[in-house]
Amino acid sequence: MTNKVLIINFEEIYLKGKNQNIFIKQLVRNLKRKLTNYKDYLDFSKAHGGSYFIEIIKDIPEETLQKIIYKVKNTPGITGFYVADTTGITMDEIAKKSVVHTKQHMNENDSFAVIAKRINKAVSFNSMDIARRVGSDINEKLGKKVDLTHPDFKLYIKVRGKYTLIYSKIIPGIGGLPVGTSGKAIAMLSGGIDSPVATFMAMNRGLHITAAHFHSVPKTSPQSIDKVKMLVKKLTDFQGQIKLYLIPVIEIQEAIAKQTDSRLRLILLRRIMLKIGEHIAETEKAKTLVTGDSLGQVASQTLENMKATEDATDMLVMRPLVALDKKFIIETAKKIGTFDISILPHDDACGLFTPKSPETKAQLKYVKEQCAKLNVENLISNALQKTETLIISDTDTIPELMS
Ligand code: ATP
Ligand code: MG
Repeated sequence: MTNKVLIINFEEIYLKGKNQNIFIKQLVRNLKRKLTNYKDYLDFSKAHGGSYFIEIIKDIPEETLQKIIYKVKNTPGITGFYVADTTGITMDEIAKKSVVHTKQHMNENDSFAVIAKRINKAVSFNSMDIARRVGSDINEKLGKKVDLTHPDFKLYIKVRGKYTLIYSKIIPGIGGLPVGTSGKAIAMLSGGIDSPVATFMAMNRGLHITAAHFHSVPKTSPQSIDKVKMLVKKLTDFQGQIKLYLIPVIEIQEAIAKQTDSRLRLILLRRIMLKIGEHIAETEKAKTLVTGDSLGQVASQTLENMKATEDATDMLVMRPLVALDKKFIIETAKKIGTFDISILPHDDACGLFTPKSPETKAQLKYVKEQCAKLNVENLISNALQKTETLIISDTDTIPELMS
C-alpha cells in the first residue's frame, strides 16, 4: 500500500478543452525531470479531476520528503498541493490516522471540521459515519472543538479503492503555466537584480529558458561569471536544468569605443547583444528574447532608447518588468532567492565602458548611422566562436565550465 500522496492542484482555467492534456502532460514531464533523484520513492499516477496524484510508495526520510516538497512547491503550473497521509479502509484505521494527522498539523487553539468522502462505496459505513466517529475521537483525544461553519482546520478524508487519504493544510505553489507550454526563450541575464526576476516571470508563463550572459573577462573579474552561474543555479529551482551561454564582448566593446559616438556606446552594445541573442535563439529554436528592462528605471531605459535597441532585431523582445515598480521587483527577487546573489559586488560588462553622459533619447536614424561604422557581422561571428556553453542542473553543485 501507498505511504503518502501528494495531491497537486492546478488552475482549472487552463484546463479547459483540448489544452488540458498538453498542460498536464508537460507538467508531469517537468515534475518527473525535477524529481528524478527521488524516483524510487515515487509513483506518478493519473490525474483525478482537477488534481494530480504523486504517490510515495515506500518509507521516506523526512528530509527527503521536504526536498520533494520544495521541488513541487517551486514548479510553475501548480497552484497548491496537499501532503496526504494514507491508511487502510477500516473505520478504526481511519480514525487512528486522523487523530495522528490532526495532532501533527493543527494549531493550539484551532477549531476543526471533518470533511469526509467515500469514493469506495463497498465499505460498510458512509461519509456521515466517518465524520461523526473521527470528529468525536479528535474531540476526546486531543480536546479540540468542532466548528462546522467556520473551522480553522479542515480535515479531509477520502476513502478510495484500497486506501484512505487524510489531508489538511494546502501548501501554496507558485501558480503560472508549466515550463515549456509557451515555447522557448533566450533570457538575457546580467548579474543585476532585474533580469533574474524577468527570467523567473517568463518561466512562470510557460517559457522554457536558455540563459545568455555577456561578459568582459579578463577585463572584469571571473567572479562576475561565477555570480551569474549562481543566479542560474537558483533559477533551476523552477525550471530544472538550464543551459547558459557565456559570450565574451570585450572586442565588441573595444570596437564600439574606438569607432562610434561615445554617447551611444551602451545602446550599440545592447543592439549587438540582441543580435547575438537572435543567433542563439536560432540554435535553440527559441522564438523570443527576454530582458529585464523596466521603463524609466535607469536613464537608458527610456522609450527612445528601448526602441533604438529593439530595432536591431526582428524577434519578439519580451520585457516582463517593463511596468513594475522597483519595490515589487526587489520583493520578487527576495521571494525567489536571487536578491542576495544579485547584490554581491561584481563588475558588469556594461559598467566597464559606460560613457560620462550616455544618450537618454537616442534618435534611431543616428544610432543606425553609428552602427554602420562597425563591422557588426564580423564582431558577432568572432564573439560566437569564443562563446562557451554549460548546462547547470538542479542538483547540488555548480559544474565546471565546459567549452
Ligand atoms: P539588470 O538588473 O537585469 O542588470 P538593469 O536595471 O541594471 O537590469 P541594464 O543594466 O540597463 O538594466 O540592462 C537592461 C537589460 O539588458 C538587463 O535586464 C538584461 O536583460 C540585459 N543585459 C544587460 N547587461 C547584460 C549582460 N552583461 N548580459 C546579459 N544581459 C544583459
Ligand atoms: Mg544591470
